[in-house]
Amino acid sequence: MNVIVKPPFRREAMRIAGKLVQTDDIVEVFHPYDNSVVGTVPAARPEHVRDAFAKARAFKPKLTRYERQQILQRTAEILRDRKEEFARLIVAETGLCWKDGLYEASRAYDVWSFAAQLTIRDDGEIYACDISPMGKARKIFTTRTPLLGVISAITPFNHPLNMVSHKLAPAIATNNRVVLKPTELTPLTALALADVLYEAGLPPEMLSVVTGNPSTMGDAMITDPDADLVTFTGSVRVGKHIANTAGYKRVVLELGGNDPLIVMEDADLDKAAELAVAGATRNSGQRCTAVKRILVVNAVADEFSKLVAEIAKTLKSGDPLDPSTDVGTVINERSAILFENRVNAAVELGAEVLHGAPRQGALFAPTVVDHVPYDCELVREETFGPVIPIIRCPGDIAEVIRISNSTAYGLSSGVCTDRLDYINRFVTELEVGTVNVWEAPGYRIEMSPFGGIKDSGLGDKEGVVEAMKSFTHVRTWSMPWT
Ligand code: NAD
Repeated sequence: MNVIVKPPFRREAMRIAGKLVQTDDIVEVFHPYDNSVVGTVPAARPEHVRDAFAKARAFKPKLTRYERQQILQRTAEILRDRKEEFARLIVAETGLCWKDGLYEASRAYDVWSFAAQLTIRDDGEIYACDISPMGKARKIFTTRTPLLGVISAITPFNHPLNMVSHKLAPAIATNNRVVLKPTELTPLTALALADVLYEAGLPPEMLSVVTGNPSTMGDAMITDPDADLVTFTGSVRVGKHIANTAGYKRVVLELGGNDPLIVMEDADLDKAAELAVAGATRNSGQRCTAVKRILVVNAVADEFSKLVAEIAKTLKSGDPLDPSTDVGTVINERSAILFENRVNAAVELGAEVLHGAPRQGALFAPTVVDHVPYDCELVREETFGPVIPIIRCPGDIAEVIRISNSTAYGLSSGVCTDRLDYINRFVTELEVGTVNVWEAPGYRIEMSPFGGIKDSGLGDKEGVVEAMKSFTHVRTWSMPWT
């Protein structure tokens, strides 16, 4: 296959209740590999955000379950049919490689299709009341209702289609209205997705997309009087700002991760090394659940790190639009410089680089670093790029668990062992939202509950099933029943 052609330059407008809205000021969107401008979006002011929420609030969604199912499934099918078009847009604005772009477009199909299948299911419950001496001949029924107000959705750059889909699909499945603010770094995919939804039959008042600089209009997304719930995926810093600013509103926070892959002495080391490299480098290492630390016990560390370096050397880092590239760029040069500095600082503390390449702009090749001190910045903070840091641990599971739990994060984890006693302890004692045995921390299906604790989130889960719950109120009603 030849090099993929970048999509034509897009001068985008916002979508406010389906209307195209421009502003005088714009934000440029860059292709990180060559810094070319691939498009522009309007720089909204707070009054644009207010207008979007007011229009959404004024509209009362009345879609039946059947109608919602049809819109969601049509959206899934359009995305499947235009997978390559979306992948091109993702690659253009993120610098992720073509393989990652295609993978993301396929995942998004699942999100929309699962939401379509779940929207026709009624999860109401019935409680009989004649179950105690004080009981009565009545029944209490539960039903889930959409929010009275509007959902404010704020999304990150690393999955410009999938993260947005995880907010919008459950919202539509539950008959909610949404104002979405995609990141200013990768807003083009979100705008293209909004058009697909309108095409699939979504009443335009149910979805607005506003764009711009968060310093100007970010707080308007958090404090709007018509926003009942703020659902945010992004960094801990911004997540905590939202928690402090939102006031009397529901907030769903899906924040950063610092996920370990743990390799015990009984592990099949070839299999573990494959998981380590893929988990740390897919999506240029820019997944909240990427492998960000590898904890390997001393007894097998020499052999394991050799295998990791061998596999990492087979990965091709380079032009994201070349279909044979395995790892594209990170989001921008500033981030790449940060990772470079953190690797250098770890080396000063005794770590050893087993494989890597000089940084070129935003291109930061997979970098294997062995003997990383478990508490240095490279692994204590979230390093959101394709670094593969190996931390050698004593062969004592309590110590492995202590090191794993030593960061502020608690999103997910992967564990390479067949020993049930170890598995039992990891599942019980790791301070995380997910433990995947013999899988990378990022493994999930788009429907299963997903989300972290500690600084990684407040414990609310995403995934279509849980998001549909968090975007609704449970109403109970009762009546006489013999
Ligand atoms: P970010 O926090 O910088 O930005 C996320 C969003 O917040 C963007 O839309 C941005 O414009 C907006 N924002 C920034 N300041 C704001 C403000 N003051 N008010 C309102 N909105 C504001 O995050 P990012 O760099 O785009 O994304 C990477 C981060 O996201 C990583 O930490 C990653 O782990 C995390 N992430 C978490 C999950 C998860 O499910 N837990 C999934 C994907 C990414």
